[in-house]
Amino acid sequence: MTDSPETPLPTTGTEESPVIAIDGPAGSGKSSVSKEIARRRGFGYLDTGAGYRALSWHVLNGGGDTADRDTVLTALDSFDLRLGLQPDDRTVTVGGVDVTADIRTPEVTAAIAGFSRVQDVRDHLNAMFRRLAAESGLPGVVIEGRDITSVVAPNAPVRILMTASPEVRAARRGLELGSDTATVAAAITARDESDSHVLDLAHADPGVDVVDSTELDFEQTIDAVLAVIDSRINRKHGGRDGR
Ligand code: C5P
Repeated sequence: MTDSPETPLPTTGTEESPVIAIDGPAGSGKSSVSKEIARRRGFGYLDTGAGYRALSWHVLNGGGDTADRDTVLTALDSFDLRLGLQPDDRTVTVGGVDVTADIRTPEVTAAIAGFSRVQDVRDHLNAMFRRLAAESGLPGVVIEGRDITSVVAPNAPVRILMTASPEVRAARRGLELGSDTATVAAAITARDESDSHVLDLAHADPGVDVVDSTELDFEQTIDAVLAVIDSRINRKHGGRDGR
């Protein structure tokens, strides 16, 4: 079978190898929460943002302009990405080069906006993500990003949108980055704006559970997400033919 972007994840909808789809804006806590859920459940962890970051790095490293559609589409031909699925191994390589730290620079982050609206690029990356999850051989995979519940794995048995107020997100990011809250708040607002084409914070799709961590600490957020996972998976077990 060809690997079209529309090919659904072979593992979605089965209790043996569930996909846990988690979306959320910058600073929503989705990365640390997704990793911790993967650790506790022995699942893989797929950080799709790292894929977007690595592609941005790859284009810039080749001297290209990420806002030039053809440059980015051509760069995809030589985009040899390795994304580990272990929650405690964040190593990312492109063409054998370890880019784990370099993909987090402000330059690489800012350059993602050059291609993140190009549908052909998104389709290509989504096919890579689906393949990685499907071939993981793990008992489950937590896939985290912006459009996972809606586009990458719309049939996943568990789909969660993580939110938090902009103030709380800015404060958390500020702590992480060691910057002042006002600077981080401005960066978060800019990213929300640029991500609004893929993530609708106001409307979760039907069947997507919203976990708002504004008033929750980390442990409470983990508990809330685990409760959603257990209730969704148990519901499936009790449902018609496991569907
Ligand atoms: O999650 P992270 O902040 O690392 O993602 C970096 C950027 O990659 C996001 O701001 C967004 O523009 C893009 N992205 C996306 N779709 C995803 C994951 C990331 O458009 N599924």
